Amino acid sequence: MATDPTVEPFSETEMADWCEQSEGFAICGTRMKEVRRESVGIKWCFACRKRAAFEFVVIAPDGLSYYGPEGYHECTNCKARESDLFPGWTREYED
Ligand SMILES: [Zn+2]
Repeated sequence: MATDPTVEPFSETEMADWCEQSEGFAICGTRMKEVRRESVGIKWCFACRKRAAFEFVVIAPDGLSYYGPEGYHECTNCKARESDLFPGWTREYED
């Protein structure tokens, strides 16, 4: 019995809501959709190292999911998340 070496079991990814396979690796997670986006003004971006317009983005699971909505600041220049925070810092969001 020969087995196809290019087909590997994705045991980790079976837990995810969705998986995409591309060039030999898989991207998995909960499918999220954007529910809110508002400007938070110009801030320094630690990712692209320049002042850029930031937006507060809220995403929520598309459909039933274990996960709740989450929000983050996104740099409109380089699309990095939370790059207006010092590296290693985290932000706590409140409703
Ligand atoms: Zn940036």
